[in-house]
Amino acid sequence: MVNHTIESTTPVYTLSTTSSLSGIPVHSIRQYIDKGLIIPFRKESKRHLFSHVDILRLKYIHKLLVEGGLNIAGIRSVLALIPCWAIRKCSTEEREKCQAFQSSTFPCWEASEKGTLCKNTDCRECEVYMIVENYSDIKSFLKIIIV
Ligand code: SF4
Repeated sequence: MVNHTIESTTPVYTLSTTSSLSGIPVHSIRQYIDKGLIIPFRKESKRHLFSHVDILRLKYIHKLLVEGGLNIAGIRSVLALIPCWAIRKCSTEEREKCQAFQSSTFPCWEASEKGTLCKNTDCRECEVYMIVENYSDIKSFLKIIIV
């Protein structure tokens, strides 16, 4: 697991700077946002800001698309497999009400109906959302939690 500093998680880069630093075109980053692959920090002005850690996430997504041969729907399905209900220890009752627990086509942070715990959490700061940034890949994380 990677330990990120406060500096690396602070959203400071505009969309165009993020594009330059990551080497990923602005229109692709916009598409990743629209499809829920990344949640940028949103300023009051509604402009998006990104952190260094967000750039690592963008690069990981881009690598899955370009080198991994996945499409966006495929990445959404991979992210949907992260067992958020086990990580956050949701009760059986919470799971029944949670769209994220039921669906296998989108990541949990895209769910419109969530359990109580998630309703009160900023997904950008949630350990489930940050798995992509904290582990070299999702399987590395699963190897730790499933023994
Ligand atoms: S808080 Fe958001 S990212 Fe975390 S488990 Fe709930 S829906 Fe997923």
